[in-house]
Amino acid sequence: MVISVNLLEGKKVATSLDETMTKRVQVLKEKGVTPGLAVILVGDNSASAVYVRNKKRRAEKLGIDFQLIHFDTTVTEKELLSKINELNNDPAIDGFIVQLPVPDHIDEDKVIEAISPAKDVDGFTPISVGNLWIGTPLTKPATASGILMMLDYYNVDLDGKNVVIVGRSNIVGKPTAALMLNRNATVTITHSHTKNLKEITSKADVLVVAIGQAKFIKKDYVKDQAIVIDVGMDRDENGKLCGDVDFDDVKDHVSMITPVPGGVGPMTITALVDQVIELAEGRANG
Ligand code: NAP
Repeated sequence: MVISVNLLEGKKVATSLDETMTKRVQVLKEKGVTPGLAVILVGDNSASAVYVRNKKRRAEKLGIDFQLIHFDTTVTEKELLSKINELNNDPAIDGFIVQLPVPDHIDEDKVIEAISPAKDVDGFTPISVGNLWIGTPLTKPATASGILMMLDYYNVDLDGKNVVIVGRSNIVGKPTAALMLNRNATVTITHSHTKNLKEITSKADVLVVAIGQAKFIKKDYVKDQAIVIDVGMDRDENGKLCGDVDFDDVKDHVSMITPVPGGVGPMTITALVDQVIELAEGRANG
């Protein structure tokens, strides 16, 4: 008997949600409001350039006004902060992002703190993080939010579920924990100092892995019939894109799993554009 694995197909979900989002943008435009997203990019980091290009493509596809502000690496901290201040006060921009990393001569914390929490579509400012943990987020970090949107699409109810998150980064692990806690899951966050990792992960109903280590999670880390969310974007020994979970090893053992690529990745930009549209809806409704 061939058992086919139940995939959580972020790519499909993203395409399906695009339809609704395009309609929401049309409704806004009829009210005279065009959602506006800006990205500040400093320097010519090739990975950052790809991320920005993907955001631009997706935003424009949905009818969102996209502005790229591209500075040379020689930009001063003062110039960057001044641009952030300008965007904070620009009524046509609903949300913006400073694409990280920034060059070493610029204080990243200062840059993040300068972003108005009302327009912080990355959800990285200390005020945004505080609101998220209080349970009243204005904005949510896109990867974490995208994971939740995908689980909602597949009607996965997190209430009372035992969730284990491997990785405690500010951009993925921690905000995913906060959002899932807000959905009444029982959440455990693990990291590189965690003792007996396997013992903890193998009790998870929902296992979220965001560590940046190719195929690290094998079958013996995963509870039978668990739901596995693989955030990792790594390269295997042959240079092929893969996740933090050894997909082939665990796939017959789980109830649902995200593929890499085509799982969490496409949902990240979906969550970002959804958030920009939501902020624009707030603007339209005064
Ligand atoms: P990060 O900032 O490097 O954090 C990695 C986390 O994993 C840290 O908390 C670290 O623990 C923990 N860790 C590392 N090795 C571990 C191990 N062997 N056992 C347990 N914990 C371990 O990474 P990140 O930015 O969260 O990204 C993680 C992965 O997700 C990367 O592959 C990245 O490319 C991918 N990613 C994908 C998307 C997407 O849209 N699909 C978005 C963001 C990131 P310590 O804190 O103790 O060091």
